[in-house]
Amino acid sequence: TVLLELKSIDRRYDEGSRKLTILDAADFVLHHGEMVALVAPSGAGKSTLLHTAGLLEWPDAGDVILNGRACGRLSDDERTAIRRNDIGFVYQFHHLLPEFTALENVMMPQLVRGLKPAQARERAMQLLDYMKIGARAEHRPAELSGGEQQRVAIARAVANGPLLLLADEPTGNLDPATASYVFDALEALVRQSGLSALIATHNHELAARMDRRVTLAEGKVVELP
Ligand code: ADP
Ligand code: ADP
Repeated sequence: TVLLELKSIDRRYDEGSRKLTILDAADFVLHHGEMVALVAPSGAGKSTLLHTAGLLEWPDAGDVILNGRACGRLSDDERTAIRRNDIGFVYQFHHLLPEFTALENVMMPQLVRGLKPAQARERAMQLLDYMKIGARAEHRPAELSGGEQQRVAIARAVANGPLLLLADEPTGNLDPATASYVFDALEALVRQSGLSALIATHNHELAARMDRRVTLAEGKVVELP
């Protein structure tokens, strides 16, 4: 069954006098439990597509349907609620809060959502253990390696039990061995929790391990072999 559908998405940016067309009637479908790689050169529109799918930016035309819900007619507050509860984001750089520990960083989205601290702590610890970083729970981001930071960022992204994980070059800042290790943990988490994921990556080895690969060409999402 379909989790996410992007329907005829247009996205243009003004560049001085001319319009830059990034997405041009782009269609895309992500099924429940699928892991799809988004592989395209820099500037092709990967971030734009991920931000559109994640309801962080709204397109010039088209609609985003998440779990059967057409998001085009929702208010900003409703979209924010969906982002908080149903969507997790991971970036190339971890964006963890520097003054808080790994554990606190993973607890944070749950506290914002209104969970009791004891519950948030238990779930955060489970996720850190699952990402094999439980031993580093009390450390701040600056005391962790790049791979460890990304594993915490991934744990934080799924802390609220989202349906959809969106990742923009999640291993792009890591050496190949670390990238592979972090991706192993990410993949295990996605599979174990029945999440669906769209992951932009330049790493062809990792892309090959996903269920499908797509690229962007002339503003459209195109399947790769
Ligand atoms: P990618 O993630 O594939 O590198 P992006 O989605 O970030 O691509 O950007 C696609 C194109 O759109 C780029 O040429 C970029 O310069 C342009 N772009 C992105 N955001 C904006 C913006 N807010 N204003 C103008 N141009 C933008
Ligand atoms: P608030 O002002 O309450 O933080 P936002 O609309 O800024 O509300 O964010 C709501 C949720 O959307 C956040 O919890 C966060 O997960 C996500 N979010 C907002 N902006 C971004 C962004 N630039 N990148 C990734 N996630 C974001």
